[in-house]
Amino acid sequence: LEANFSIIQENDGPINGLITVLHDVTEKEKIDHERREFVANVSHELRTPLTTMKSYLEALEDGAMKDKELGPRFLSVTQNETERMIRLVNDLLQLSKIDSHDYQLSFQSVDVTLFLHRIVDRFEMIAEDKEIQFVRKISKKPMYVKMAPDKMTQVIDNVISNAMKYSPEGGNITVALLEQGHQLQISISDQGMGIPRESQSKIFDRFYRVDKARARSVGGTGLGLAIAKELIHAHQGEIWARSEYGKGTTIFITLPFLEIKEGEE
Ligand code: ADP
Repeated sequence: LEANFSIIQENDGPINGLITVLHDVTEKEKIDHERREFVANVSHELRTPLTTMKSYLEALEDGAMKDKELGPRFLSVTQNETERMIRLVNDLLQLSKIDSHDYQLSFQSVDVTLFLHRIVDRFEMIAEDKEIQFVRKISKKPMYVKMAPDKMTQVIDNVISNAMKYSPEGGNITVALLEQGHQLQISISDQGMGIPRESQSKIFDRFYRVDKARARSVGGTGLGLAIAKELIHAHQGEIWARSEYGKGTTIFITLPFLEIKEGEE
């Protein structure tokens, strides 16, 4: 709420009254503020790889290109930065589509049990040479929900990739699936660095990172969980984090068992 006061007074005469105008500016201002902050963040996130690329390209031009060792190394830096920008722009495009409701989820009835086993199988292949073990607490019983499998794969991939990225010492990553009345709960726990309490709800905000330098060095855009939150909400589900700083993090996702009407499957 914003208040403006005007004093009603003729020349230097006695004060006859006071006008108070109250407006509810909070919501509009909050949105304006968020928008400005978002544009500033995007600009900064794009400028960082661009300035890095510029200086490496200059060094290449100034002779590093002819150096057998420096040449390929500097080129690969510019390549990595280009890839980071592509990831960032792709994430931004996806968010902008979500914001303007310019996308459609193609819902299907999916057996989440099998769906999660397949994702973990894939990560086990990737993580073979890393110090990470996957633990499955997923029953064999089929459990059907309605979901857009490609979008849900994107969400789970992002959460598992984070669990790996932010677990520098390795450890276990536990993927669990629980039935809870009208909904099911997926949880992904790691034994990594954890998230300080005050940041646990903010990690789903656009561009929020606990440690910017570390997040950048592991290749993050800072948008993965923001996209995940939007996609889970589009499934009428919830996503949140519980974490003990220094000990590990669990990301919880709930999804409703959407009723399958008669005639459908
Ligand atoms: P990023 O691309 O930076 O990983 P995300 O939106 O996926 O962006 O995550 C936002 C931030 O949340 C990360 O930068 C990191 O600080 C924190 N975070 C996410 N998952 C974990 C985790 N499993 N352990 C510790 N920190 C995490």
